Amino acid sequence: MEPTELIWMDGELIAWGDAQVHVLSHALHYGTGVFEGIRAYRNEDGTAIFRLRDHMERLRRSADAYSMPLEWSVDELVAAAKETVVVNELSSGYVRPIVFYELGTIGLNPTRARLRSAIIVFGWGAYMGEDGLRYGIRTKISSWARISPQAFPAAKATGPYINAILANLEAVKAGYDEAILLTTDGMVSEGSGENLFAVADGKVLTPPLTDGCLDGITRQSVMTLLAEDGREVVEESLSPDELYGADELFFTGTAAEVTPIREVDGHSIGGGEPGPITRRAQSLFQDAVSGRLPDHRDWLDYV
Ligand code: PMP
Repeated sequence: MEPTELIWMDGELIAWGDAQVHVLSHALHYGTGVFEGIRAYRNEDGTAIFRLRDHMERLRRSADAYSMPLEWSVDELVAAAKETVVVNELSSGYVRPIVFYELGTIGLNPTRARLRSAIIVFGWGAYMGEDGLRYGIRTKISSWARISPQAFPAAKATGPYINAILANLEAVKAGYDEAILLTTDGMVSEGSGENLFAVADGKVLTPPLTDGCLDGITRQSVMTLLAEDGREVVEESLSPDELYGADELFFTGTAAEVTPIREVDGHSIGGGEPGPITRRAQSLFQDAVSGRLPDHRDWLDYV
């Protein structure tokens, strides 16, 4: 992560080092925040933020799910994100909006705490490393279940990430790169911060949202791109043995982009090398974020 100079906070641009909150912040104690992760790409035509409005709309829906009275409209958040990228002269990198309860109460009901909003931008490379993108990563099915949709709304809130963090810590401690979480019923849900796809008999499969995975914007994009490319793409529950036996597996996410998976729990996938459909998904996604797909130029918001 490469810090930048200015952070947008509650409508103002302030110095990186001044963007601080109190140690009694409600969100620090109880995880009462909602957030987004967005990428900006340097293209031939300038710097473009990928599906910025879709991300800000998801932020708004996440805030609504937790009854947070977000004081900014989607239009204002879109404009603020672009402004923050421009003033920092960031040509490519990551955009992290967050809305959270700060000071005002230490009781569980957060409504008397001050709601704060920030957008932080910074330079950031491949989440799983360049080698991960190229050769694929090794994963482990977690012993922690994905938090059930009955326990949390399908929103991108900070508190529930402790579940993903437990799974990631366990996987990395055991020598793997990333965790795959199952539902409490034992079906595949997603990675700690990525959606998951499998390829079997030429079909592209991904778990449905009812299996507790995030409605990922990269997931939606890759489903669209592969379907347009003539692939059959199906939302279908997957069991762990279907993962072990899959021809190809890959993760999608803003941070992870399209990352091949070459191993699950010691089972080699596709001979341990990224397969042709994974490679195709990677190249179509790179074309989309680079502005090389005329039909999807509306996914790019130039700053
Ligand atoms: N699942 C989880 C748990 C995530 O945190 C993310 C990253 N936001 C994703 C999936 C991928 O979502 P997106 O493609 O919208 O980044």
